[in-house]
Formats: sequence, structure tokens, C-alpha cells
Amino acid sequence: MKKVVIVGSGPSGVYCAINLEQAKNLQIDIFEKSMPLKTILPTGGTRCNITHWANDIKEFAKNYPRGEKFLYSIFHKHFVQESLDVFSKIGIKTYMQEDERYFPKSNSSKDVREKMLKALRRTRIIKRKINSIKELNDYDFIVLACGTKGVEELLLSTEHKIIPLKSALCGLKLDLNSPKYPQGVVLNAKEGEILFTKEGISGPLIYKISSINAYKSFPYDITVDLLDTKKLENELKNNPKKSFGNIVSLFIPKSLAQVILNQNFDKKCANVSKSEIENLKTITFRVISTDNKGEIVHAGGICLDEVTNFCQSKLNPKLFFCGEVLDIDGFCGGYNLQNCWSSAYCVALKIKEIAEN
Ligand SMILES: Cc1cc2nc3c(=O)[nH]c(=O)nc-3n(C[C@H](O)[C@H](O)[C@H](O)COP(=O)(O)OP(=O)(O)OC[C@H]3O[C@@H](n4cnc5c(N)ncnc54)[C@H](O)[C@@H]3O)c2cc1C
Repeated sequence: MKKVVIVGSGPSGVYCAINLEQAKNLQIDIFEKSMPLKTILPTGGTRCNITHWANDIKEFAKNYPRGEKFLYSIFHKHFVQESLDVFSKIGIKTYMQEDERYFPKSNSSKDVREKMLKALRRTRIIKRKINSIKELNDYDFIVLACGTKGVEELLLSTEHKIIPLKSALCGLKLDLNSPKYPQGVVLNAKEGEILFTKEGISGPLIYKISSINAYKSFPYDITVDLLDTKKLENELKNNPKKSFGNIVSLFIPKSLAQVILNQNFDKKCANVSKSEIENLKTITFRVISTDNKGEIVHAGGICLDEVTNFCQSKLNPKLFFCGEVLDIDGFCGGYNLQNCWSSAYCVALKIKEIAEN
């Protein structure tokens, strides 16, 4: 019997154990400092957006601001359909939503958690916090599936290069001198929805921007299309006696138009200048920090240069990594969990291969 230890029973750790269990010559222990698979519960707004529809590996991998090229080889070994097959085998039936995101038919992350844990027949989950891989010397294989929260000491013990952790997929705080945008209002910009929050901006588009800009230094500006100025110009011409604000409110929420136009809101359309129209083509936000409220993942982690395409350490052949602990992060839509499934599968595949020989 060879002994495997997995640190962390998040999605990647449990998926790795599920795939290791087929090898009867392996004893599998998971050390977990908290509740097993707790981190899957809030996913997809508690519905668990398990993955995303895929046609082509390279296209799919474009959704990872960090890890894109590294994932080609990982996805070649285990991709979306293979993960869906694993879930189906353990009783998790899935369906694809109109926006191509996959969810369990139960629409319940609690159900996914229960079924994944039930699929572990031989794996022992032991409550224990691991601070250093030196504590795990008795094991033949060590898998770090510990995610990125509070793991600095443990990661340093691996002697691997660590890419600094940064918040990604989160809301952004705006400069204090910004106009007082109406809280709770949504702007449907051409590029996507922007939600105005107490301190700044949030919503799917902002999550994506926060992710792309994870390593950009603050402050920085974001400019998005506000409205179609040709259409606005026509409306203004057709309604010369109406107020500028009422016409702009046909395109964007009135409360937002009031903030943007300020004293010009009540101006007659006939008196609006060309430059006043052109000013509404785009809107620019000055971002001063992340708000860490909607934070979904961290960019950064174990540097990919020091791991093989089976997520095995190049410095210590006993050591493997999977999931978010790697310097891989994706956009919203199921991409982060797919990284967990695919990297965890590759780790399990390699360990089984070594253990057999
Ligand atoms: C609110 C929210 C919603 C999300 N929704 C989605 C979604 O719908 N789809 C999607 O693809 N992604 C989603 N994500 C991202 C996704 O949840 C993560 O990418 C995923 O959980 C990472 O899994 P992991 O197993 O690598 O790490 P984690 O989930 O972080 O799990 C790590 C585990 O290791 C344990 N651990 C850590 N350190 C130690 C230690 N020293 N000793 C012992 N145990 C330790 C932790 O307690 C934890 O249980 C969401 C994230 C959040 C926060």
C-alpha cells in the first residue's frame, strides 16, 4: 500500500480523491482544517455552476487570465465532458443553461457536496490544519489542494516560487471624488452590466475587469460605452422642447442620468451642444482598490514554471498541486471549478501511474 495525503477537502481535493479511489493499492487521507467541501456551498449563488460548455480547448482556455497555455495540456487529459461523466457516475446529473453554464439538475450546491462526499468510500477525512509539508513525511505522495486562503506558511514550506496573491472577480471601489452614483442601479453598458454599489461598482463585467487588472496598480481608469450618441441625437432633434435629462433617461436609468447630467438635466433639447452629446458616448470610472466583497478567487499561487503538465512539482517528485493553489484563475461561468476538476484529475492519473510501477 502506498500512502497519499491531500491537504484540503475543497472541490479539487475531493475530486482528486474520487479519481484516486479506483487504485486499490493506495491509502488516501485528506487533512482538512474546516468543514469538508464547505467552499462548494456558496458557488453559483448556491446552485453550483459546475462548468461551462466547451467546443474547443484553446477557445475555452481563453477564459483564464492566468494559466491559459498551461491548461491546454491539462484539458487534453481531462476536459468538460469527462468531468460531466464523472459527476454523472456519482449521481450528479447536470444541465446546460441558455448562457452555456452547467449546473446540477438539483440546482443545489448542497446536493453536489453530499454526492461528492458520498462517493468517497475509502478516503479518510481527518480534521487537522497542516502548517508545513514537513509534517507529511510519512506519505509517499503529497497533494496540496488547499486553495489560497491563509495558506502562505504552508506554501512557503514547499520552497516553490509563489506568485503574489491578488483578489480577482470582485467589486471595485471608486475614487472618493467620483460623482455619487445611485446605489443599487444597474447600467446596461454595451460591454455588460455594471451595478453601482455603496463604494463603487460591481456586477459580471466589473468582475471580469477586476480579474484582467488583478496585477495593475491603483488608481486606474475604466472606460465603457454609455450610450449610442447617433440615436440620442435623433431623439433630441425630434423632441426640441423636452428636457435633455428626460431624453437621456430613455437610454440609461433616470437616477444615473441625473448624476451624470447634473444641472444640464433640465436643459431644453434644442439647446444641447454637439460636445454635450459626444460626452455621453462613454463613461470613465477611476478605480482606487478592490472592494473584496464579491471576491470569488485569487490570482497568483504556485508558479506554473515549476510544475509539470501533470501538476507534479519539478522540485520534489512526491509533491503535487491542484485547483486554485496553482497560479491559475478563470472568469465567472464555471471556469474556476473546471480548473479544479481537470488539474485534480491529472494529479490522480500521475499518482496512480507511479504507484502501479
Ligand atoms: C462566493 C463564491 C462563488 C463561487 N462560485 C463559483 C462557481 O459557481 N463556479 C466556479 O467555477 N467557481 C466558483 N467559485 C470559485 C471556486 O469556488 C473556487 O475556484 C474553488 O473552490 C477552488 O477550489 P480548491 O479546492 O482549489 O480550493 P478551496 O475551495 O479553497 O478549498 C481548499 C480547502 O483546503 C482547506 N485548507 C486550506 N488550508 C489548509 C491547511 N493548512 N490545512 C488543512 N486544510 C486546509 C480549506 O479549509 C478548504 O476546505 C466561487 C467562489 C466563491 C467565493
